[in-house]
Amino acid sequence: MSGRGWKIYAAIAVAVIAGYQLIPADGWWESGWQTAVGCLGVAGILIGAHRLPRRDRLPWWCFAFGIGANVTGIPVSIYCSEVAGWDSMPSLSDPLFLLLYPACGVGLALLIRRREPRGNWTALVDVLTITTGVGLLAWVYVIEPVTAGQDIDMLGRGVQAAYPIGDLLLLALMTRLLRGGGSRGAPFWWITASLGAFLLGDIAWVVIGDLGTVGAELEATQWVHRSIDMVFLAAFVLFGIGALHAKAKDVGAANALQPARLGRIQLALLTAASLVAPGLLALQLHQGHGRVANGTAITICCTTLFLLVVIRMAQLVREIEQQAARVAEMARQDELTGLPNRRAWNDELPRALDAARRDGRAISVAVLDLDLFKQYNDAHGHPAGDRLLKESSAAWYGALRRVDLLARYGGEEFVALLPGADAEEASAVLERALRATPGGQTFSAGIAVWDHTETSDQLVQRADEALYAAKAAGRNRIMASAATPHAVPPLPR
Ligand code: GH3
Ligand code: MG
Ligand code: MG
Repeated sequence: MSGRGWKIYAAIAVAVIAGYQLIPADGWWESGWQTAVGCLGVAGILIGAHRLPRRDRLPWWCFAFGIGANVTGIPVSIYCSEVAGWDSMPSLSDPLFLLLYPACGVGLALLIRRREPRGNWTALVDVLTITTGVGLLAWVYVIEPVTAGQDIDMLGRGVQAAYPIGDLLLLALMTRLLRGGGSRGAPFWWITASLGAFLLGDIAWVVIGDLGTVGAELEATQWVHRSIDMVFLAAFVLFGIGALHAKAKDVGAANALQPARLGRIQLALLTAASLVAPGLLALQLHQGHGRVANGTAITICCTTLFLLVVIRMAQLVREIEQQAARVAEMARQDELTGLPNRRAWNDELPRALDAARRDGRAISVAVLDLDLFKQYNDAHGHPAGDRLLKESSAAWYGALRRVDLLARYGGEEFVALLPGADAEEASAVLERALRATPGGQTFSAGIAVWDHTETSDQLVQRADEALYAAKAAGRNRIMASAATPHAVPPLPR
């Protein structure tokens, strides 16, 4: 919708919801008004969904269906009580009211799946932790008292318990939506606000219900119950505003998996959720003078929460290990060419010399330097120079033997380690590499065969001197260090 469309819709919605406080004190007026606002919400969602690409519509249709069913429950409810005189529990309207939960739940699950097609286990564990904590509170203070009530039959109790269970489902999915990745444009927040409003309204009714006579007085006070109704009316239209917003299609856009973060708010929420069970236990012990009313529920929740915390800890440790391995790998790799860098070379060379000493085999080191690379950079530009470095190193790598190691020593200088190669073989291998250099470019190289006594630094130093000799002799050539030993000395005993 155009930038203004959703604003006009929102303005109309605000006016209609505010008008709810002014209508005559009559159940039919109230129900009619609520139904009209609900229809406004459903219309907003359907129009918004129609403007989206076909594949993005399904979650919104689920929302429209859930809210539509819920709104239909309003006239059915007043018909049952005022016209048909059915005051039994459950009412015919309950299934309609309750359809909100599974329908919106499916819509939210579809949205979450689209936003994060690869799944997000960390977010799932966080959501389960928070839902378990809140679920215990809901069980102890809402669900269990309802199921234990004697004044209605089993079906009635089941239906009454279904409302807080539905709220828990919405809370879990809302937390999952908030905890996961994906775009967080305005429509995302309108949807979240709508879900929050549904939950807030339900919590308000629970609190009033728990207040006894004070609660009954509050419920009978017109502006109070109308204010709570207005929270639900807001929930209906907030979805519509989200659907009509110009960026509604971004809500379902796929997003790359973000690394799990554990910010201060998340940590506080997880801590609070984990402390619900022990906190409740302490409270019940204190109030019951040593007797615990909900021991089984508390035990189940404690166990679940402990397991979830352990899983979360394992996830974090594994993630840190993976990151550490990635960082270690990056620290040994040259960014431009992907070859091992000087640090990796410095680790590898003494190890290779040790192995050569043990095996009594020859080993050679070569230092390669692109010829007149500064001229190449000046003529073609630095990025072209970078490309030549990448392509050359790849070509040389291909020309070397599988056992050889090629590393970037710095700038346009490379080093090669050739295990088992004497000066002749090393020269042959490097000749192959020289011919493979792309772009008509050349390099000069110096080779030094290890004398089985010198240090790594001395060996590289000799290869470097040979390189300078090759440069001095006119470049585009490979020279072996004059001090190259002709035979490998016998193994030390
Ligand atoms: P020589 O044949 O004597 O080796 O001449 P040269 O021009 O290759 O040597 P010199 O040491 O004078 O210049 C090396 C050049 O390599 C200078 C520097 O700008 C360039 N260079 C070093 N590192 C990089 C890099 O990562 N990318 C690019 N594009 N150029 C680099
Ligand atoms: Mg050079
Ligand atoms: Mg150089």
